[in-house]
Amino acid sequence: MSEQVASVDVYTPTVAVVGRPNVGKSTLVNRILGRREAVVEDVPGVTRDRVAYDAAWAGRSFTLLDTGGWDPEAKGMAARITAQAEVGVAAADVVMFVVDSTVGATDTDEAVAKLLRRSGKPVILVANKVDGPSGEADAAALWNLALGEPYAVSALHGRGSGDLLDAVVAALPEAPPESFDVDGGGPRRVALVGKPNVGKSSLLNKLAGEDRVVVDSVAGTTVDPIDEMVELGGREWRFIDTAGIRRRVHEASGAEYFASLRTAAALERAEVAVVLIDASEPLAEQDLRIISMVVDAGRALVLAFNKWDLLDDERRDVLEREIDRQLGRVTWAPRVNVSARTGWHVDRLVKALDTALEGWEQRIPTGKLNSFLGQLVAAHPHPVRGGKQPRIMFATQADTRPPRFVLFTTGFLEPSYRRFVERRLREDFGFEGTPMELSMKIRE
Ligand code: GDP
Ligand code: GDP
Repeated sequence: MSEQVASVDVYTPTVAVVGRPNVGKSTLVNRILGRREAVVEDVPGVTRDRVAYDAAWAGRSFTLLDTGGWDPEAKGMAARITAQAEVGVAAADVVMFVVDSTVGATDTDEAVAKLLRRSGKPVILVANKVDGPSGEADAAALWNLALGEPYAVSALHGRGSGDLLDAVVAALPEAPPESFDVDGGGPRRVALVGKPNVGKSSLLNKLAGEDRVVVDSVAGTTVDPIDEMVELGGREWRFIDTAGIRRRVHEASGAEYFASLRTAAALERAEVAVVLIDASEPLAEQDLRIISMVVDAGRALVLAFNKWDLLDDERRDVLEREIDRQLGRVTWAPRVNVSARTGWHVDRLVKALDTALEGWEQRIPTGKLNSFLGQLVAAHPHPVRGGKQPRIMFATQADTRPPRFVLFTTGFLEPSYRRFVERRLREDFGFEGTPMELSMKIRE
């Protein structure tokens, strides 16, 4: 029982994959992930749901940000791709810039290269579609982009991908950047997220009032995102990427994708997310997707139902049923009903934020955790499966922000039993407002 549990660092560097449509970004993402998760669509412009993935190479973990779902039919494509690259730069520690070496550097590629050079971020230039030795010359031609060595790869067949990943990992920062207060010393970082038109900018205006302070969060660059310091409940809070909230991109095709990219980037830097929902309308797929993004990113979560001034009794009843039916996964999240328009109950956000952050950072001492689990397992043992009955022998909370538990077991605990353990942990210890992770170490 002396197995070491590696404590998981909260800070994981981010690598963004940028480039024109069809250069092979998602094929590359698939390659890096081992084809586990990302989806390659041959149909241009198909919106992909997920943009952030957990990846690892040579013992380093990083978050891979796929900017590939871009709609190439969007108006002003060059401008849009530049904007997408800006998001990549702002959100990532390292940028992988993918160019189709069979096509060569286009004007758009040149524009992106210029932006990347100015950003000061480490850039790895990927010369893709080098499927064989005869393509090497095409790759070498990309030295012209003045971004250093082009890494000749075939995302499709895997050629050169090992060297490429070595270069990516070598470019990852060792330590969190300045702006990342791991111990929460600085103002709390809040991401205000939600689908278009739910009232994010209205709420921001209500909260920030006149005396907001605009902070350029990315030192050394002139691009987004811009954060704002907002005083709530007598304390300073840092609202992440408020420039993205205020800039309206609703009209363009691909806007939803762009919004989810920004959301992922904001969550990456936030400690807690307020997911704003328009309570006057039925809960939408996109609301649920954004909530999932927060949970998957491991951030504390507050649900805020806006436009409460528009609700009549009937809608309130229907909403409660929608919440019961569709938000069962996040029953632990504190909920506030607000009206950004009138300011009604907006002040209650502070308590919800505090509650969620407290749960996110809570740690149960090992002794207490094990006496709790001992009683739980004695009273509710795991069902017998195939003549065996897995037992939890010992557990520890390996990490906080969010809480992660490691259960040392004598066999595989089925998902329903793990959910049961999680529910009881929440009942006994709170953990309001935070996703939590239970993993197993099975001892044969
Ligand atoms: P994205 O729009 O940049 O994400 O590009 P995709 O990953 O969807 O790829 C666009 C097309 O290029 C697809 O048909 C891929 O199969 C193809 N492709 C991607 N990588 C390679 C490669 O290394 N070699 C070849 N020959 N084709 C590739
Ligand atoms: P965003 O796209 O999420 O930033 O949403 P906006 O803040 O631009 O708001 C979208 C629309 O909803 C605007 O017309 C707002 O005036 C309206 N709105 C925002 N909050 C409320 C609210 O609490 N009540 C009502 N009735 N309308 C609201």
